[in-house]
Amino acid sequence: MTSLGVGDRGPAGLNQVLIVGGGPAGMMTGLLLARAGVTVKVLEKHADFFRDFRGDTVHPSTMEILDQLGMLERFLRRPHDRLDSARIRIAGREWAIGDLSHLDTAAPFIAMMPQWEFLDFLRDEAAAFPGFSLAMEQPVAGLVEEGKRIVGVRLADGTEERASQLVIAADGRASLARSLGLLTVETFGAPMDVFWFRLPRTSQGGDALRGSIENKRMVVLIGRDTYWQTAYLIPKGEAETTRARGMGWLRSEVQKAFPDLDLSNDVLKSPEELHLLTVAVDRLVEWHRPGLLAIGDAAHAMSPIGGIGINLAIQDAVAAANILSRPLARKAPVDHLLDKVQERRLLPTRMIQAAQIAAQNRVIGRVLGEEGPIVRAPLIVRLLDRCALLRRIPGRFIGLGIRRERVRSPNAFV
Ligand SMILES: Cc1cc2nc3c(=O)[nH]c(=O)nc-3n(C[C@H](O)[C@H](O)[C@H](O)COP(=O)(O)OP(=O)(O)OC[C@H]3O[C@@H](n4cnc5c(N)ncnc54)[C@H](O)[C@@H]3O)c2cc1C
Repeated sequence: MTSLGVGDRGPAGLNQVLIVGGGPAGMMTGLLLARAGVTVKVLEKHADFFRDFRGDTVHPSTMEILDQLGMLERFLRRPHDRLDSARIRIAGREWAIGDLSHLDTAAPFIAMMPQWEFLDFLRDEAAAFPGFSLAMEQPVAGLVEEGKRIVGVRLADGTEERASQLVIAADGRASLARSLGLLTVETFGAPMDVFWFRLPRTSQGGDALRGSIENKRMVVLIGRDTYWQTAYLIPKGEAETTRARGMGWLRSEVQKAFPDLDLSNDVLKSPEELHLLTVAVDRLVEWHRPGLLAIGDAAHAMSPIGGIGINLAIQDAVAAANILSRPLARKAPVDHLLDKVQERRLLPTRMIQAAQIAAQNRVIGRVLGEEGPIVRAPLIVRLLDRCALLRRIPGRFIGLGIRRERVRSPNAFV
């Protein structure tokens, strides 16, 4: 049998690992495996990374990883806003609810960076490793199974591509591994959906992230250079009822939430401007089967609360590379190690989803169902606002997460 050298794809150009999906989970896993000397190909169905209305929050836990990889400085050269505290507007006033500035980590703030910028960055960094390749506009239509083992993928044009060791499903919450019934999903539900749209941002100062909670209305603004990426929460399944109220109604709702915004009749004119995100919280029962491992949203769809999805996907990628990269680099079988990845990442996923579900049910579900005006902020919000020390707790939970990963996979090129 021919032994492949570092970055050498072998006679038939066979990759050791195929990754379905070039989101944060797939790109980071591809980068780390290639860095460890594994030949890996990421297959992404879109022609570019430019997809609006996706996660924008790169947390300290992710930047810690970039720091360990020696990439943080280059990352921070890309356009971003910094956020080291969180405030929310409830019952007509702003409340301070989180503080990240005291975290003992390389970058104690949230970098607000459009996801396409982050993915472009990962692609450029991964390109330094010869074993890495990325195929854009390459939708995967199916998985190839042989003797109860997944051995490759079937592309949209009907051709097959094989992986000598592993296929990773990093294709998000509508993953093929789910739709083909290869891995079973457990769903936990959510009381809300979200309309995303853009609003003009006329001044660059102030917070890059703003939130407002009033009766039956929750709005979040995420600052981009010339516009606000805006999330307007609606009760689950009420997209059509909300659309039917008209754009003027929606404009005035947002204006009431943020009186300082300059919303003339020229903005938010057409229902076409509204992008619906159906919120889901779920998790696979088993994240793997022989030859196949699911990570990121494919393994666990997260609620948008806390902006944790990207960061959890990155942590999954690091854990997977820590556990699998050495045996993969030796061309050793890894099927028996796949459960270790799930075991490692299940606890943080469970705990974060439990916190999100509690927030959804206790706060969001109630606010969206509330008839009368909200006259008081909840006790926890008042306590956080009053006590600076207490604000470090949510800052730590959101910024660094639980069981944070450290890069232990090797760099085969130093
Ligand atoms: C509107 C919105 C706002 C969000 N806001 C935040 C936020 O502020 N902060 C945060 O941390 N998270 C946020 N999230 C969640 C975050 O975007 C996801 O948790 C994160 O992107 C998950 O990464 P992933 O790589 O696992 O999956 P994804 O990012 O979903 O990436 C999957 C990739 O696979 C590709 N793909 C899918 N099917 C195929 C196929 N068959 N063949 C080839 N390629 C395929 C997709 O095109 C995509 O590029 C938000 C999500 C949405 C939808």
